Amino acid sequence: MTGGAGFIGANLCRALAARPEVEKIRVLDDLSSGDLTNLDGVEVDFVMGSILDAELLTDLMADTTTVVHLAARPSVPRSLADPLASHSVNATGTLHVLEACRATRPHVVLASSSSVYGNCQEPHKHEDLPTRPLSPYGASKLATEAYGLAYAESFDLPVLPFRFFNVYGPMQAAGHAYAAVIPTFVSMALRGRPVPIYGDGNQARDFTYVGSLTEVLVDAAVRRVTSPTPVNLAFGTRITLRHLKDALGMVLGRPVEPAFLPPRIGEIQESQASPHLLRRLFPSVCPTPLEDGLRMTVAWFENSATADPGLQLDAHI
Ligand code: NAD
Repeated sequence: MTGGAGFIGANLCRALAARPEVEKIRVLDDLSSGDLTNLDGVEVDFVMGSILDAELLTDLMADTTTVVHLAARPSVPRSLADPLASHSVNATGTLHVLEACRATRPHVVLASSSSVYGNCQEPHKHEDLPTRPLSPYGASKLATEAYGLAYAESFDLPVLPFRFFNVYGPMQAAGHAYAAVIPTFVSMALRGRPVPIYGDGNQARDFTYVGSLTEVLVDAAVRRVTSPTPVNLAFGTRITLRHLKDALGMVLGRPVEPAFLPPRIGEIQESQASPHLLRRLFPSVCPTPLEDGLRMTVAWFENSATADPGLQLDAHI
């Protein structure tokens, strides 16, 4: 697995480790945004290194039967700050991973993103819609999936490219400049502070609990599922940021106040998946309801020293 010390990767390592069919998990990560403590207590063979290191990738691929490629430089704002760095890891890095797979042809599961749809006005994004990324991050994730499918066509590599939407849950870091919305909301609300909302808060997302996402990824890896087109990995739920704030208030048992800020460049208004293809390929997977997912996320924040160091500090004031 690439990027296995990150938020999704570390959750996936735990889910894979619980499966008897999985013999050995190897993680390649440069710890640029991941954290080794995310893998505490999980039996993995950890390799510190970059997906931009072609020689290292070739060595690692010799005895690998399945690759889950998650390593990336995530976040839209980070890509606006440095587009070339996002391209280098997300596009060129993916090409290195695929190139290393050519000789041994392992099954490859790739992480693309809903950001490839851009501001497309269709309420439910289905995989046949045109892609028009608004940000360098979206463009680089489009390259991730396009290279994956091109290698499937050109070199008969068994590939499954997923488009993740807004994933949340334990081990998603808060307290840094590029933190995602749910960890930011949880961390601020736990301190009794207003949660920042850019724009009017009516922008809607298809939030996916990480446990539901890893269930699909594990099933995909174990059954060696492939697809000639990208597959949305979200369940078609529409949750506005205002609704999210209220749901978090319900979970915490007290109201959460908003702090409205100017809208952000490149932010998409509506982002919901059409889940039909996902349902066809993975009929048994059942999404975790938002309140349950938020409850598990809040519990992790409350119990983990690494969740948000600032939170622990505040808790002691
Ligand atoms: P994350 O930042 O927690 O994980 C990414 C991991 O990749 C980190 O551990 C990081 O150290 C590692 N990494 C970065 N550059 C590397 C390199 N050059 N070599 C080796 N490792 C490197 O992010 P995440 O949220 O877990 O995202 C995982 C994947 O899912 C990414 O491909 C991301 O684009 C995609 N995705 C995530 C979301 C989401 O909501 N979290 C949504 C859409 C797509």
